[in-house]
Amino acid sequence: MQTIDTEAEKKEILKRYRNLLKACKPTKEGKALIRLAFDTAMEAHQEMRRKSGEPYIYHPIAAAQIVAEEIGLSTTSVVAALLHDVVEDTDVTLEDIERTFGKKVAQIVDGLTKIKGVFDHTSSLQAENFRKMLLTLSDDVRVILIKLADRLHNMRTLDSMPRDKQLKISSETKYLYAPLAHRLGLYAIKTELEDLSVKYTEPEIYRSIAQNLQQTKRDRNKFIQEFTQPIAEALTKQGYKFEIKGRPKSINSIWTKMKKQGVPFEEIFDLFAIRIVIDTPLEDEKANCWGVYSIVTDSYHPNPDRLRDWISIPKANGYESLHTTVMGPGGKWVEVQIRSERMDEIAEKGYAAHWKYKDSSGDNALDEWINRIREMLENPESNALDFIDEFKLNLFADEIFVFTPKGELRKLPANSTTLDFAFDIHTEVGYKCIGAKVNHKLVPLSYVLKSGDQIEIISSSKQTPKEDWLNYVTTAKAKSKIRDALKEEKRKIAEEGKAILQRKFRHLKITFNTSNINELLAHYRIASPMDLYYKIAQGTLDIKDLKDFEHEKDNIKAKVPHPKTEAKSFEKMVKDIRGSADLVIGEDMDKFDYVLSPCCSPIPGDDVFGFITINEGIKIHRTNCPNAIQLMSNYAYRIVKARWTNQKEIAFLVGIAITGIDEVGVVNNITKVISSELKVNMRSISIESNDGIFEGTIMLFVNDTDHLLKLIKKLKSVTGILTVNRMDSN
Ligand code: MN
Repeated sequence: MQTIDTEAEKKEILKRYRNLLKACKPTKEGKALIRLAFDTAMEAHQEMRRKSGEPYIYHPIAAAQIVAEEIGLSTTSVVAALLHDVVEDTDVTLEDIERTFGKKVAQIVDGLTKIKGVFDHTSSLQAENFRKMLLTLSDDVRVILIKLADRLHNMRTLDSMPRDKQLKISSETKYLYAPLAHRLGLYAIKTELEDLSVKYTEPEIYRSIAQNLQQTKRDRNKFIQEFTQPIAEALTKQGYKFEIKGRPKSINSIWTKMKKQGVPFEEIFDLFAIRIVIDTPLEDEKANCWGVYSIVTDSYHPNPDRLRDWISIPKANGYESLHTTVMGPGGKWVEVQIRSERMDEIAEKGYAAHWKYKDSSGDNALDEWINRIREMLENPESNALDFIDEFKLNLFADEIFVFTPKGELRKLPANSTTLDFAFDIHTEVGYKCIGAKVNHKLVPLSYVLKSGDQIEIISSSKQTPKEDWLNYVTTAKAKSKIRDALKEEKRKIAEEGKAILQRKFRHLKITFNTSNINELLAHYRIASPMDLYYKIAQGTLDIKDLKDFEHEKDNIKAKVPHPKTEAKSFEKMVKDIRGSADLVIGEDMDKFDYVLSPCCSPIPGDDVFGFITINEGIKIHRTNCPNAIQLMSNYAYRIVKARWTNQKEIAFLVGIAITGIDEVGVVNNITKVISSELKVNMRSISIESNDGIFEGTIMLFVNDTDHLLKLIKKLKSVTGILTVNRMDSN
């Protein structure tokens, strides 16, 4: 028989009790109440022991400690946590508790007791249980927070439980409690619950990742040290009070990544995030966080796609922070989180910490949140299993959850449209999007998505981004990608306009220089040279006016001698070429100088024309080249007919762009199709993968368009490949 040193145990219990008081810092009356609760629990659980053999009272004390220290709740919750198992397990009644501790505490303990009954006696219908559990939340959110503390302590002490209980409790934790903690913004608890679940459901994996993290710790710390040093120096120099933490990501999130990407631990690169927490007055915190951002990006290049500003618009669960991903030493992307001490506390402890900072006036966020849940729970039409989905889908109105045709879940901001979704899938998918099927019904680009929608994007290779698309999109990503594309398009057109203007200037014997261009800009009231060239190319600015302009403006008369001889020989060349028969590409090499234009990379089979350039001979363009219309409308006299030779042995370089779902072996399958099945010569292949979607570019040699089309068709049939398109330019 085991002997128990009761004196030592009593000492230990008191020590733990004093620690609890230290963590919750109660008022004088609060302290008395907590003491009373402690004594009540002590007496009620006196004879009870946990599976581990320890006195049962360790458990309510530990749960209360979590409530105070890790969730940031105060006296009422600590009292309720100490009493949470009393009514269920002992002779103490709810009336006793109400008499001694008041109505509020009794209500919370009642809620906790009911939850316990629900979970312990039925085991199969988890969703129904979960619903009941949330019903109690509508009385007081503290019930849920204390329940989470209770569960966390049970997970921390799961070692002494039999294996089957370990599995049941861990799965339940992962499936219900961790998401709940996440919803409530309790990130630290959520992470620990998830990690502990992995520890018991997949012990081998947990051990191996933990071990790997331990082994790589020194290298990681060295990298973090090196990375943060210039930032810390600059912050100090500018007078910031700050703390920099470099934290490894949780075992669960590493494991999730390994599974998702199908790679071993060694190939997970973002194993940690850098967090910069600044001590700053409330009114300056936003400005100071952006100040820190500026310092960070002075040292390292940010990835513009990865900037997240949850300070201007906090997440619905209260999370505030500024996230950026920058290129660190050695070409490694590093995530940097910037926040104030207040934000950090909210991020770690969630809503409870939130209350502490807001005075009672004006903060209705929590009430609203509870109301929304209550409405959902009171809807009699939803059955329990639907409810889980609804819980996931509708809890927060500022985010929606939608699905790809293959059932992959994607999260978008509220009011996102089909076009946002297309860009969320992939930039190329966005550019080529012409519409979509939502739940199998055809909808336009501007269709506003709802949670639960399943979207199939319809695209066309002919599609290009349009100006009015900017009115249809909500996400920053889509907006910036559309702007980029429009700018690029405009730039190309403007180049043509510039050439026209240069010719015109030469004609009028005006020097083509900045000061003369500036004169023009001022004259036409146009903001930039690019806008000017663009307008000229579009024909919206009548360039004939230039003559009048010239007369008015004496200061523009910096003349250049006209290169007459050059022009004469060019005119003669044009005449010569146009006077002979059609240009046959592949045969007339010796007669004329010609090149295949890199802007559209024509290959045999394409409809083409030749364009006589001043210095580079004849350039061959595809008739559907983005520059063709400009060239043909402005320089019809320099266009020559061209056709392809019938010879087959010449191979032409062509680029194809592919996108698809990242699956193991997909690259292998692609190269197999190209080189062994179709015997095509490949020059290069590059594949980049991001969040399960990959995009790649393949440069290869083909004989003609038939050959290319056959290849594209074949590639499209490879599992996992979504789009295969010929690229306009190499
Ligand atoms: Mn308990």
